[in-house]
Amino acid sequence: MTSLERTLAVIRCAVPDRVPTDLHNFLMAARMAGIPLPECMRSGKLMAESHLAAWHRFRHDVVLVENGTAGMAEAMGCEVLYPSDVAPRVVGPVVRTWADVAKLRVPDPERVFPLNEVLEAVRILRREIGDRVFIMGRADQAPLALAAALRGYEDFLTDLAAPEDPAALERLLDVCLQTTTRYALALQKAGAHGTSLGEFGSDLISPTMYRRYSAPRLKKFYAAMNAAGFPATLHQCGNTAAVLPDMVSSGAAVLELDVHTSPRAVKEATRGKAAVLGMVDPAAVLHRGTPALAEEMSRRALEVLAPGGGFILGPGCALVPETPEENVEAMLACAARHGRYARDGSLT
Ligand SMILES: [Zn+2]
Repeated sequence: MTSLERTLAVIRCAVPDRVPTDLHNFLMAARMAGIPLPECMRSGKLMAESHLAAWHRFRHDVVLVENGTAGMAEAMGCEVLYPSDVAPRVVGPVVRTWADVAKLRVPDPERVFPLNEVLEAVRILRREIGDRVFIMGRADQAPLALAAALRGYEDFLTDLAAPEDPAALERLLDVCLQTTTRYALALQKAGAHGTSLGEFGSDLISPTMYRRYSAPRLKKFYAAMNAAGFPATLHQCGNTAAVLPDMVSSGAAVLELDVHTSPRAVKEATRGKAAVLGMVDPAAVLHRGTPALAEEMSRRALEVLAPGGGFILGPGCALVPETPEENVEAMLACAARHGRYARDGSLT
């Protein structure tokens, strides 16, 4: 099987030849290629160049393309800082009063920076390796996370707890849903094989808020992606246990999770319904750990999550730029060595 076939098999809930791997490595790839982060995050050509170099080095099955979590916010008018050592971040929200919601426009991803650059990176990667490798063009933030970036995180969390203008809050979230849906479909047109959204987890907002504001919109997003034949993942950081059933019923093809949720609970909740991507710790294991630890934690993840299929092994969140290459190699080697399937779906 090629990387693409292997990953598509997992998304279809079929058992592949072995567990596919991904790297959430847009920052690490830039550093490995010797490209300053602020330049790489602003250029589709450089993003693609860094990912190609990293892919030739690691040969992972799924390439995650993005310029961080602030791209859509910037496209919608927020001021964004491009630091030299971490991912870009929003420093100037754009929805200062509720009246500002009416001024928001759904950006045209083909024309508006930096979405146009991410689309360019996807086009190049699809042309260069997309016949063999699963290219995931990431559609940025889900409605709550994007609305928080547009409004300012603290103000937004206060808004959710006690909305001053409930109708404007709903409109803001609807605009966020429209922008990411449009962007995702543009990524598909650019050649991506799949996409993703990142949403707030249940350790940041209450399950009640998640169900009220996010879950209905996530369902609409994933219904649109499924109708377009475009598999989409749902990325949530932190402990997601309280909303795991909601994540599964969103219709997302894959749940991207870090180490803060129990892998056994995740396997039980997703079996036959959605695939799982992760759940190796990008910080304590892949950044600060050793190859032996990376191997051990990858093996543990395989033992719980891989049987019967439905699993992509990788870091549960973004790798920092300085992640040691040998730790990443140890994780990938573990999938090659211990992630092979027998006909009955058990690991050999
Ligand atoms: Zn994350």
